[in-house]
Amino acid sequence: MRLFARPLLLCLLFAVQCIITPNGWAREWVEDATIRVAASDEAGFQQLSPNHARYFIDELNRGPDAIHQLPADAWSAIARETINVGPLSVPVWFHLRLHNTTGDAVGRILELRWINLRWVDFYQRRSDGQWLHHQAGLNVPSDQQYLSGSSYLFPIELNGGEYSDIYFRVDTQFNALMPLFLWQRIDYFRSHAQQLMVYFVAFGVLAAMMLYNLSLYVFTRERSYCYYSIYALSILVYELAASGIGNQFIWGGFEWTRLHLYAVSINLSFLCGVLFVRYFLQLKQYGGWLLLLNNLSLWYWSLSLVMVLLGSSLLHRLGAPVSMFTCVSGLITGIYLWRGGNVSARYFTIAWATLIVCTMLTVQMIEGRLPYNFLTVYGQLIGFIVELLLLSFALAERINRERRNRELAQREALALQTQISAEREERVQAQAQLLDVQQKANEELETRVAERTEALVRAMAELEKANTQMAKLSRTDQLTGLGNRRFLDEVLEQVLDSAQRTAKPLSVIMVDIDHFKQINDTYGHPVGDECLRLVGATLRKLVTRGTDVIARYGGEEFVVVLAETSETDAYRVAQRICEEVAGTQFIASGQRIALKVSLGVAAYDHSGTMTTEVLMANADQALYSAKDQGRNRVVRASAITVAH
Ligand code: GH3
Ligand code: MG
Ligand code: MG
Repeated sequence: MRLFARPLLLCLLFAVQCIITPNGWAREWVEDATIRVAASDEAGFQQLSPNHARYFIDELNRGPDAIHQLPADAWSAIARETINVGPLSVPVWFHLRLHNTTGDAVGRILELRWINLRWVDFYQRRSDGQWLHHQAGLNVPSDQQYLSGSSYLFPIELNGGEYSDIYFRVDTQFNALMPLFLWQRIDYFRSHAQQLMVYFVAFGVLAAMMLYNLSLYVFTRERSYCYYSIYALSILVYELAASGIGNQFIWGGFEWTRLHLYAVSINLSFLCGVLFVRYFLQLKQYGGWLLLLNNLSLWYWSLSLVMVLLGSSLLHRLGAPVSMFTCVSGLITGIYLWRGGNVSARYFTIAWATLIVCTMLTVQMIEGRLPYNFLTVYGQLIGFIVELLLLSFALAERINRERRNRELAQREALALQTQISAEREERVQAQAQLLDVQQKANEELETRVAERTEALVRAMAELEKANTQMAKLSRTDQLTGLGNRRFLDEVLEQVLDSAQRTAKPLSVIMVDIDHFKQINDTYGHPVGDECLRLVGATLRKLVTRGTDVIARYGGEEFVVVLAETSETDAYRVAQRICEEVAGTQFIASGQRIALKVSLGVAAYDHSGTMTTEVLMANADQALYSAKDQGRNRVVRASAITVAH
């Protein structure tokens, strides 16, 4: 597409030219070029064609008389569509011949509707040889001109039937373009007012678009609006300069602006256009050759603008080719991006192409390749208005699209954020619930553990109590409440050890109820049990020392262990028991029963070899001895021969 853009554009221009000038470029010299001035023209004016004028390039800087003396063949016909000989570095003379075909004197205005000429000297040679001279051009202040307007005006006076020669000496470095109109005075002013109206409407539109986009820039701070406004302003200045209206109404009083503002405005509008394209199409984002093309134009027009402001014409010759380059590169850029899907580029390409085509019409006219007519005169202005309208619309569309995209992205981001915070909230809630459940479980567990621990402690206490009780029970004789045989064995071991360590005496008394079998037989077993309890109670009554121990040894036998007691002292205790039992009337189940006991006493001998068994055996021996000796008595082990 890029390769086809340039040929495509040229074809388009060629087609436009063919439509406007179907007869081609060649122009035949017309022998009778005299302009006939009639009493009244219906149109009120005559547009003078290239056929009416001839030109002479004056390298010797002649005066009007010398020019008037020139032979006819010194003059050349104009082979262009306008009265135009292009840019020249030396003065050029144009010659016209007028003939008043009426019998009366007439007055006319000759309008040169091209302001961009430095020096224009108007000479009318009357039939009586008199010269009328007026000066115009950019270098001539308007108050020194015949009439001030947006174009150069000259008075024509013709007597009835008079032939008169008109000479223009034009000295300019720009195109020596001479669009000439011969007006009846009143019609000129009427037409000029209409022309001004057209321009003012067009300038109003340009100014409105500039101010509108400037206000958008102020509110949105979007740079493209700013460049658009500057671009529109530069076009406004350019059109004011090109139309001559700027000179007529605004800056005509200053020589510098008169001379330079046109060139400045061309450079400025190219520069602003290039800047606008840069930001409007966002070329910085694309980079590469797109940005390079833009940069080349940007550098050239910046430099050229500075040169023009400094009054230098160094880059003057490059102006036309670089203008072409800028226009075509802008078009290529637009088409390339359009094909790449850039919506803004579509509007831009259409706008840019419209401007190029319209401008080309005007440029071709200035160059003399197209005639001076409405389309070629106003073509560029129309192109600018259409371009700026399209671009303004495109800019609004782009900003709107970007805003929509931004809003969409914001909405999506918001939705995502909401979703994320909802999920986070859910997670937090779930965590809180989990924590709650965990806490409750922990509390329950702790309560249960505490309950269990308490129950365990209670159970253990009860168990200990039961154990203690069991231990106690296992050492207690159920019938008498005294210690039993196991209890006695344990106590004996302890007291024997203690006696051994302390070397203190230890004695035991073994007690046996006499003829108990008979009691059982006589009174019955329950009475016998009662008797056993009564004997136990008697022993308890008589043996009261804290360290003394009483136990039921088995059957109707009891043992009394007396710590720190010698055999003699134990013998006395045994005597007292023997006497007490014998002296007591026991009453069991309402029966009076006389009981007697025999006792054997033995003591620990500290020999180091005596065991509890030996000690008990000694006591038992002594008891048997008491039985043998007739019962109801006490026998000491030491008193008998103990056989081990
Ligand atoms: P001795 O004077 O020689 O001691 O004659 P004894 O009858 O007392 O001795 P023996 O060893 O012949 O009889 C002991 C009797 O004691 C036999 C038994 O019936 C009785 N006895 C043993 N334990 C108990 C008991 O727990 N309750 C009752 N009621 N009688 C018992
Ligand atoms: Mg016995
Ligand atoms: Mg007995």
